[in-house]
Amino acid sequence: MQRATKIVATIGPASSDIDTLTRMIRAGVDVVRLNFSHGKAQDHIDRANLVRQVAASCGREVAIMADLQGPKIRIGKFELGKIQLVNGAKFILDAACELGNQEQVGLDYKELPRDLKVGDVLLLNDGLIVLTTDKVIGSQIHTTVKIGGELSNNKGINRLGGGLSAPALTAKDMEDIKTAMSFQADYVAVSFPKSATDMMMARQLANIAGDVYQHKPQMIAKIERAEAIPALQEILDASDGIMVARGDLAVEVGNAAVPALQKRMIRMARASNKLTITATQMMESMIVNAVPTRAEVSDVANAVLDGTDAVMTSAETASGKYPVETVETMAAICIEAETSEDFKLDADFLNVTFTRIDQSIAYGALFTAYHLRVKAIVALTESGSTALWMSRHNIDIPIFAMTPSVATQRKASLYRNVSTLELRHSTDREAVMKEVQDLLLAKGIVRKGDMIVVTWGEPMGQVGGTNALKIMKIGDN
Ligand code: PGA
Ligand code: MN
Repeated sequence: MQRATKIVATIGPASSDIDTLTRMIRAGVDVVRLNFSHGKAQDHIDRANLVRQVAASCGREVAIMADLQGPKIRIGKFELGKIQLVNGAKFILDAACELGNQEQVGLDYKELPRDLKVGDVLLLNDGLIVLTTDKVIGSQIHTTVKIGGELSNNKGINRLGGGLSAPALTAKDMEDIKTAMSFQADYVAVSFPKSATDMMMARQLANIAGDVYQHKPQMIAKIERAEAIPALQEILDASDGIMVARGDLAVEVGNAAVPALQKRMIRMARASNKLTITATQMMESMIVNAVPTRAEVSDVANAVLDGTDAVMTSAETASGKYPVETVETMAAICIEAETSEDFKLDADFLNVTFTRIDQSIAYGALFTAYHLRVKAIVALTESGSTALWMSRHNIDIPIFAMTPSVATQRKASLYRNVSTLELRHSTDREAVMKEVQDLLLAKGIVRKGDMIVVTWGEPMGQVGGTNALKIMKIGDN
């Protein structure tokens, strides 16, 4: 049984050596995430080179996702590195403060005092510390500690309900986009977008920076701001996919709202022919333990049942003790969830009205494959778009995107239920069909006598839309 759900793994100090990364990729990493919130440009360049090198030695295409830091609002540093805040105490956030102490701390986002009003609730360190705003005087935000605890250097700040004016792309992000394009990152994730405009701007910058390499990355919108929820459809339309960024989202909209939002986001993305990554704290306890909690196992399995393209690790694989075990465990949970699910072509599939020819062929192939119980669906594709259409619906038959393009192989690493194989271009249809069969036979995916469905674009050898479908029995062309 092949795994349909993909694994995105963040790498960092715990996973940036050849041995660990090799074992992680062998264990099933499909996309490596480089987190631009940490490290210098050169660290990311070195890691990207390492990923390409290790993937090549494993004989696989692995995509690289550059995750931009965005306008994450953070407090400054403390004289002693950290303080203890007690409930009921007064505490000042001051944009003009250089070095913090028990009474006050600085802010990296100098505009924050302007965005706040009396009564606003501030959540620090992923919501572990809660402050309420008493008054705002110039650069100072005077607060009362509602829930105290330890507060250390550079922790994040969110306002409950969102509404902060910080633009999605910072000057640092713009530089980081250039760095990411220098190693042709396959995916760029944009943090805290509020609107389609934020995504369009990021895409434009990435395309300009990628132009010298003739590279256009796929754009992922991280949904982690309250304002992004009502704007979800327009953000989807302007992106190639979204990340259910549960860490920041939970502090902005409240923890309890997140599970239902996750389901809605995945449903809307699939209906819009877009990708989804479910992220943050999926295997959190594996940062320190060799096995996950029951709740974490359920969380990963439920994301699979929701129809996510990928599940993601953060600190588990970037700085945790068990990066390889985390990936192995996730892969096993995904497979189990996929097998246990009563896979059916989604009922709404029959009601979809389509206008595009490639979409019609994709759905025709799904319908045919499902009813004839074929062994595999093969999409001969240049851009991967037919495979993307097919992968938006549940079917327990593997889809193979065969393409001459390495870039397409990498980007399709994120598509649920799609595996990629390299296949050269040819104008001779019979020769290509023979190659498809040989490739599937060599990989042990099919045996003589098995049926498969193949889609392609005619005339062959030209870059053009898929417009043909064939049902083929292995061995008799
Ligand atoms: P981050 O994004 O890890 O970059 O903060 C993911 C999230 O907020 O869930
Ligand atoms: Mn975030």
